[in-house]
Amino acid sequence: MGAEKITNTNTNFKWNFIENTLENLKETNLYRGMNELNSAQSAHVNFQGKDLLMLASNSYLDMSNDPQVKIYTKNIIDEYGVGSGGSRLTTGTTSIHKQLESLLAKFKGTEAALVYNTGYMANVGVISTLCSKDAIIFSDELNHASIIDGCRLSQAKIVVYRHNDMNDLEDKIIANPCSRGLIVSDAVFSMDGDIVNLSRVVEIAEKYELFSMIDEAHATGVIGERGLGTVEHYHMDKKPDITMGTLSKAIGSEGGFVCGKEILIEYLKNKSRSFIFSTSLSPAVMASSIKAIELILNEPQRVQALQGNIQYFCQCLRESGIEADSKSSIIPIVIGNEKKVMEISKELFEQGYYISAIRYPTVKKGSARLRVTLMSTHTKEELKRTAQTIGNIVNKYKGVTNELYSTI
Ligand SMILES: *Cc1c(COP(=O)(O)O)cnc(C)c1O
Repeated sequence: MGAEKITNTNTNFKWNFIENTLENLKETNLYRGMNELNSAQSAHVNFQGKDLLMLASNSYLDMSNDPQVKIYTKNIIDEYGVGSGGSRLTTGTTSIHKQLESLLAKFKGTEAALVYNTGYMANVGVISTLCSKDAIIFSDELNHASIIDGCRLSQAKIVVYRHNDMNDLEDKIIANPCSRGLIVSDAVFSMDGDIVNLSRVVEIAEKYELFSMIDEAHATGVIGERGLGTVEHYHMDKKPDITMGTLSKAIGSEGGFVCGKEILIEYLKNKSRSFIFSTSLSPAVMASSIKAIELILNEPQRVQALQGNIQYFCQCLRESGIEADSKSSIIPIVIGNEKKVMEISKELFEQGYYISAIRYPTVKKGSARLRVTLMSTHTKEELKRTAQTIGNIVNKYKGVTNELYSTI
């Protein structure tokens, strides 16, 4: 009996920190949950039996639910089945995997490409394989968590520079000389929607003989005339050494990728642990990406529709009293206070708009925001009334506080 009591006490004690942490998250309005959808990821979704206009998805070109993508994927399932049965270096490589990698290299204009299971795994795998204890990584302060985790895993020295501030980057490189180093940045910043100063990043990397790497998760299929990404957006001749991205956003499927020189890809295949030690994605998932990329290349009107929507929506927001000027499909509306942003988001849901509230730790404390994302298939009418509704609700809340509302 006695022993049993002690065991129970220990068990309770063991769980205390978890209970406390969750309580604390609730008290500070940072507790998170999941919304269950009962429909495909598309411009309209079914949530709790209601039709909502989806303005929070990363499926910018509405490819997740594209009829042609679905038919193509179904045919591949019939031929290749579902799971891949092994890692890429054992049994998990099919001709579909190779076909996608060739297409990605063509799409980004590089010698070769490699597909990882997620963008997260690509960042973690590439950064930790290229950099080790003796290296220095120069990382933008607003880089995605997967970049940060890759940096940490590498055990390299991490030097964080001010957001997109090329003078600060160069000052920090001069102050931290190294024999091996990497500059890494989001291409389109995931919570702010602004675009990296890529030509300066590439120039500075060359000058100091560092690797340059960009994360095109939100750039692929979104920026550049044909949606090819940042290099096309700036009409650059030179490319960064490493272009990574994800197949889970505008491409509408799953997986991450790395594009660059053949020698880089061969090195990653041999050394990158998140590539080597995980079962590869199924051929069907690869096939969805192939079809989506082909559609982007062959039907440029999709990317054009998205870019037209971005311009139009920002204009509607300005007419509703909210400063907005984004070149990407991410349009943040900074509210500041965590509780308030939750209330605003809830009110938008009630009125039929699925718009996410983004809080710490995704963004800094006190810079909570609505993060509106657009799709190529939103109609002008939908965008106009969305901007008006946001304007009305935000202005109502503005009345009760002195906080400033603007996009960044
Ligand atoms: C989403 C995202 C990733 C991760 O990609 P997944 O395929 O979702 O794992 C990496 N970097 C950035 C900037 C992202 O927004």
